[in-house]
Amino acid sequence: MGKRLFKKVKYLLNCFIDIIFPPAHTCVLCGRKLENRSKYILCTACLTQFESLKLNDFMNFYMPNKEVYKYCDSVSYAFEYRGIVCDMVRNLKYEDKKEYASAMALMIEDEIKSTHRKYDIIVNVPSYNKKKKERGYNQSQLLAVELSNITNIPYKNLLIKIKDTKSQVLCDGYIRWYNVKDAFECRENLKGESILIVDDVITTGATVYYCAKALKEAGAGYVGAASFAKTNIDKKAY
Ligand SMILES: [Zn+2]
Repeated sequence: MGKRLFKKVKYLLNCFIDIIFPPAHTCVLCGRKLENRSKYILCTACLTQFESLKLNDFMNFYMPNKEVYKYCDSVSYAFEYRGIVCDMVRNLKYEDKKEYASAMALMIEDEIKSTHRKYDIIVNVPSYNKKKKERGYNQSQLLAVELSNITNIPYKNLLIKIKDTKSQVLCDGYIRWYNVKDAFECRENLKGESILIVDDVITTGATVYYCAKALKEAGAGYVGAASFAKTNIDKKAY
C-alpha cells in the first residue's frame, strides 16, 4: 500500500473512531475534564470565577472617559480586569495562549447581544507594530476574527496605524490620550455602515476613541466598541 493511501486510510479510521468515541473535552483554562458540554469550553469551577467579575452599567467607576462618546456611539465590556480575567488577557497576550480567544470572544458576544444592535463589520484595534512583530500576532485581531466566526458578521482589517506611538502600557492617565491622538486611519470609504471595534482591554477609552474617529471620518454611520475587560487609570491594566 502506498504511503499516501495509508495516510488517508489512517485519517479516515481516526475520524471514524472519533465519531464512535468522541474525544473527552477539557476546560481550556485548567484542563479539568468537562462533565457537560460547555459553550465556552470552561469547567463550572472556572466559570464561577467570572460571575463576580461581571460589570454592569451602573458601575460608573469603570465607565470610560465621557469624551469617548463623541465618536463612539456605545462602549461595552464583559468583565472587570481582575483575577481570572486578568490572567486570561495576559496569557493570550504574552504566553501564546491563542486557544483562549474563542472563549473570550463568546463572552464578548454575550455582551454585544444584550445591546441588540446589528453590526455590518467587525474591526480590531491595530497593534503596536513592534509588539506584533515580537509576538507574531495581535490579540485584538484574534478576538475580532473569532467573534466574526461566531456571529457571521464579516471581519475587515480597516484600521491602519499611521503614527508611531509608545505602548499605552507605558503611559499614565491623560498621556494615553496624547499618545494615540490621530494615530489611526481608515482608507476605505464607508457608506454609513455600523461598525464594531473589538479590543481585549479598555482603560481610558483613548484608543477606541481615535479608532472610532477614523471610522466616522471614513463614513461609518454607527461605531460601537466592545472589549473583554475594563480597567481604570488607577488600576493599571498591565
Ligand atoms: Zn476549568
